[in-house]
Amino acid sequence: MAMLDVQDLTTHYLTMRGPVRAVDDVSFQVDKGEMMGLAGESGCGKTTVALSLLKILPQGGKIMGGKILFKGDDLVELNEKQMREIRWKGISIVFQGAMNAFNPVYKVGDQIVEAISVHESKVKKEEARKRVGKLLETVGIEPSRADNYPHEFSGGMRQRALIAMALACNPDLLIADEPGTALDVIVQAQVLRLMRELKERLNLAMIMISHDLSIISETCDKIAIMYAGKIVEQGDISSIYKEPLHPYTQGLIGAFPSIRAEKRRMTSIPGFPPDLLNPPPACRFHPRCPYVMDICKKEEPKLVKAGKRYVACHLVKKA
Ligand code: SF4
Repeated sequence: MAMLDVQDLTTHYLTMRGPVRAVDDVSFQVDKGEMMGLAGESGCGKTTVALSLLKILPQGGKIMGGKILFKGDDLVELNEKQMREIRWKGISIVFQGAMNAFNPVYKVGDQIVEAISVHESKVKKEEARKRVGKLLETVGIEPSRADNYPHEFSGGMRQRALIAMALACNPDLLIADEPGTALDVIVQAQVLRLMRELKERLNLAMIMISHDLSIISETCDKIAIMYAGKIVEQGDISSIYKEPLHPYTQGLIGAFPSIRAEKRRMTSIPGFPPDLLNPPPACRFHPRCPYVMDICKKEEPKLVKAGKRYVACHLVKKA
């Protein structure tokens, strides 16, 4: 069994206007030492998947169905006290735009020590301090910088320090939500290389959430593409990049430049992502799909195996 086995996860936001179907029947697995990319446009449900895994959904967010099997336990069934044992020690997250997550008036090292003390009350302060030094070293920061305030770190160092903080309680699974956002490309590349190294050195399972396919292709072993709350294609990176089968995946890949492939005109996906209060019936991508057929408006395509990947599209079922 995979370390993380998500089965038919469905999460809605209950609003005055009705339920927002942010995540619908999403299934995937991530194993030890494996890095999965979760990709798609803003608002497709990627972050809601992450928040559901940790059960830290904002007000109105509710897991409506499905299972989140983590090391054999179904997290959906656990109460808040039991979930506190999972957060940080089992599953940890580096939030989007988290470079500003440090409190500006406390030293970086003290903030990481506090995170350790809160989640592992038996660890003494002195031991936690030693751990902070090692953690900073792991992410390529001189341990003496633990005594610096966040404003004394560059953007890349703050991001690295946050990764160190997320690793403070030795989690088995690390989720990184848009880890490259707000970093320049050089620093972004360094942070991504660090994540890949950490995955290999610590045999971590990782989920990398990004709208940027180039980030995912550089770092991950496999990918799940989300559209309007659903996974439309998933499988190993190379087969999906070489030959995307779902029209949405084709559109996403066509919208990113490649420095290695032949020069070509970039394309955009026409239209806008749907309102998930009232998603389009059957295939949610049908109003934007260049290959739409009658069946696409009547029948929802199921994820079917196609070679090394799974695709939810009536075209593929017919192939
Ligand atoms: Fe396009 Fe139909 Fe496939 Fe949906 S099911 S992606 S509308 S071809």
